[in-house]
Amino acid sequence: MSDGIAGSEIFDIAVLGGGAAGCMAAIRAGALKKKVALIERNDSIGKKILITGKGRCNITNAAPIETFIEKFGKSGKFLRTAFFKFFNTDLVEFFRLHGLEMKTERQGRVFPVTDKARSVVDVLVTSLAQSGVEVICKSAIRSIKTSAGSFQIELEGGRSISAKKVILALGGASYKATGSMGDGFDIAVKLGHSITPLKPALVPLTTKETWVKDLQGLGLEHIRLTFECGKKRLLSEIGELMFTHFGVSGPLVLDLSGEVVFLLEDHKPIRMLIDLKPALTVDQLEKRMLNDLSGPAGTLFKSVMKGYLPQKLIPVFMRLANIDSEREANQVTQKERRLVLNFFKALPLTIKGALPIEEAMVTSGGVSIREINPRTMESRLVPGLYFAGEVMDGGAPSGGYNLQQAFSTGYLAGDSAAA
Ligand SMILES: Cc1cc2nc3c(=O)[nH]c(=O)nc-3n(C[C@H](O)[C@H](O)[C@H](O)COP(=O)(O)OP(=O)(O)OC[C@H]3O[C@@H](n4cnc5c(N)ncnc54)[C@H](O)[C@@H]3O)c2cc1C
Repeated sequence: MSDGIAGSEIFDIAVLGGGAAGCMAAIRAGALKKKVALIERNDSIGKKILITGKGRCNITNAAPIETFIEKFGKSGKFLRTAFFKFFNTDLVEFFRLHGLEMKTERQGRVFPVTDKARSVVDVLVTSLAQSGVEVICKSAIRSIKTSAGSFQIELEGGRSISAKKVILALGGASYKATGSMGDGFDIAVKLGHSITPLKPALVPLTTKETWVKDLQGLGLEHIRLTFECGKKRLLSEIGELMFTHFGVSGPLVLDLSGEVVFLLEDHKPIRMLIDLKPALTVDQLEKRMLNDLSGPAGTLFKSVMKGYLPQKLIPVFMRLANIDSEREANQVTQKERRLVLNFFKALPLTIKGALPIEEAMVTSGGVSIREINPRTMESRLVPGLYFAGEVMDGGAPSGGYNLQQAFSTGYLAGDSAAA
């Protein structure tokens, strides 16, 4: 890798951004014998990849194409060609050929067998070198101009390069410390593109209730979350939740957060109800509890609750139901018992909003996909300009779908630009 180039050098293709999308685009174009430069602001490529999947990199999902398309919602159809061209099996094969095997875990999530995101980045570095790509690090792109069918790219420090074609893969505006600072949107706008409003997706939600702070770090598995506004049910799904000092996170919250952020624009306040016992009705729970409450005299109600709730949740339930923590089980009234049981089925929280876009795992919104040809990833407005990855509008829940989108669109953009 070089630290920048002196003067102006001419390339067939300049790939902007050394994330998953940019690396794959450059590797493909380089493999097709084009003279390719990959430009990255950080001192090495793939900084965001290193933090994916909690450092293990959930690189893709074993689901079929139709599931991927569904997961991407309104941008799903746009991605069809990219997925057909280079899908999950191709990605797994690409890494296998470079000596890195993958394994499939629950919900079809695919990880490298090493459990290390670093090994994914190492393969990309090797493959870039094998494809003859010139990787130019520590070089933030400042501006791009087009004239006479070529692009002039100004880099930090006054350096510039020329390219016949450009692949813009500068990522979103989340986790700015990884280098994805939203520059891709500004550059696309300057080149004449429009941006669908940016919103955080895969993002923790904030709540009005402050008691969540007492539960910080507590995870709940197999619970149902229902979001509603007034009497209107907006969303309801089963999964895992985690309490934080400001609200809620965890896989289910993150996956639903994009929709909740969207719904918050028209519906306020949104109530989130946690059903801690989705498999049981209130009546079934009551029957069981009545049995437990009729235990030996002197048994405390909070001890009975241990059979139903994680320890950390018990004081919160007692407080919400206004039951003294030392109350004996046989002194709990029917009204109090019913109240507690209702909380088992619908523990309410008021959703205030979400953490800002910088703290979201994915930026939803971005370069309008209406302005990009889905068969090639080429701009419909600027000939020779291509897009790949998160810089484009769209996004999917967690599970490896977003990285596959980056690799698939990167591959298609690289392939088309080199044609
Ligand atoms: C904490 C976290 C965990 C995640 N885990 C997963 C997961 O397990 N599985 C999954 O599928 N997805 C995951 N994602 C989402 C996934 O990482 C992204 O969707 C994906 O990396 C996007 O790739 P990209 O190449 O489009 O953009 P990026 O990876 O953001 O790459 C863009 C690159 O462009 C560079 N750049 C930006 N501006 C400039 C500039 N002006 N000049 C030069 N270079 C510039 C950046 O430094 C960066 O390297 C996670 C995201 C986060 C934040």
